Amino acid sequence: MEDNCPFCQIIEGKRDAEIVYSDEKVVAFNDIHPHAPVHVLIVPRKHIRSVNDLTGEDAGLVAEMLMRAREIAKKLSIAESGYKLLINVERGAGQVVFHVHLHLLGGWRA
Ligand code: 5GP
Ligand code: ZN
Repeated sequence: MEDNCPFCQIIEGKRDAEIVYSDEKVVAFNDIHPHAPVHVLIVPRKHIRSVNDLTGEDAGLVAEMLMRAREIAKKLSIAESGYKLLINVERGAGQVVFHVHLHLLGGWRA
């Protein structure tokens, strides 16, 4: 838990969010400023500041995030119409929250 991290605050229940999925490894919630009809953020409970800070130990966690994104897409009925999975890495690429997260974007008409 990083005190100033908005995603740690959401994970700890100290900040409101529309949680769509939660388990012992990851939490997923709706993006506060959606860029698509469906815009969910899949976030590891472990605070890792960026993809550049992942270690070999985190490999399983990264796989979890991808697999959970896939399940959430199915649950939200966007799997068939299609979705994008995106990770911004560092400021120049648009990362503004420094707690690793996977964007799940979809819900457009196929
Ligand atoms: P980044 O640009 O770092 O990849 O994406 C950060 C995302 O987090 C943005 O799309 C932004 O709208 C979202 N976001 C930032 N703060 C909050 C928050 O407090 N709650 C929620 N639900 N989303 C947030
Ligand atoms: Zn954090």
